[in-house]
Amino acid sequence: SEKAFVMIKPDGVRRGLVGEIVSRFEKKGLRLLRGEIMEISQETARVHYGHLQDKPFFEELVDYITSGPVFAMIVEGKEAVANARSLIGPTNPAEAPPGTIRGDFGLAVEENVIHGSDSPEHARREIRLFFEK
Ligand code: ATP
Ligand code: MG
Repeated sequence: SEKAFVMIKPDGVRRGLVGEIVSRFEKKGLRLLRGEIMEISQETARVHYGHLQDKPFFEELVDYITSGPVFAMIVEGKEAVANARSLIGPTNPAEAPPGTIRGDFGLAVEENVIHGSDSPEHARREIRLFFEK
């Protein structure tokens, strides 16, 4: 089995969606290994989204992700990364089908409710960044 890092972003926490979203992962069959409300520092945000630092929306993204507490979690199961991303749906909620988390709970890419690792290797890196420092 495999581990994925998943993070409910500040808009999701503010809107009281943590329980509903965690429930979807559990119903899918992914096991919740850790889950924690945390404030993320500017530094952690910049490392986490380092691959996007040249994008025009980078500063806005850092402000968004540090605008309030997030709910960071580790889920485990068969193909956890791919299965988590299929529950989450496409980056832009306007293009995410109903039934996906972004499709059901988001309106726009600037506030897309949730993050999921895009590879097992990045999952390991993100778990270290959020839970082991
Ligand atoms: P995440 O990494 O958060 O799970 P993703 O893998 O679907 O999302 P990425 O390309 O890694 O998408 O983008 C990371 C995040 O950057 C997006 O989830 C979103 O919050 C933000 N983002 C992406 N594109 C835009 C954009 N055009 N305008 C504003 N924010 C954006
Ligand atoms: Mg990504």
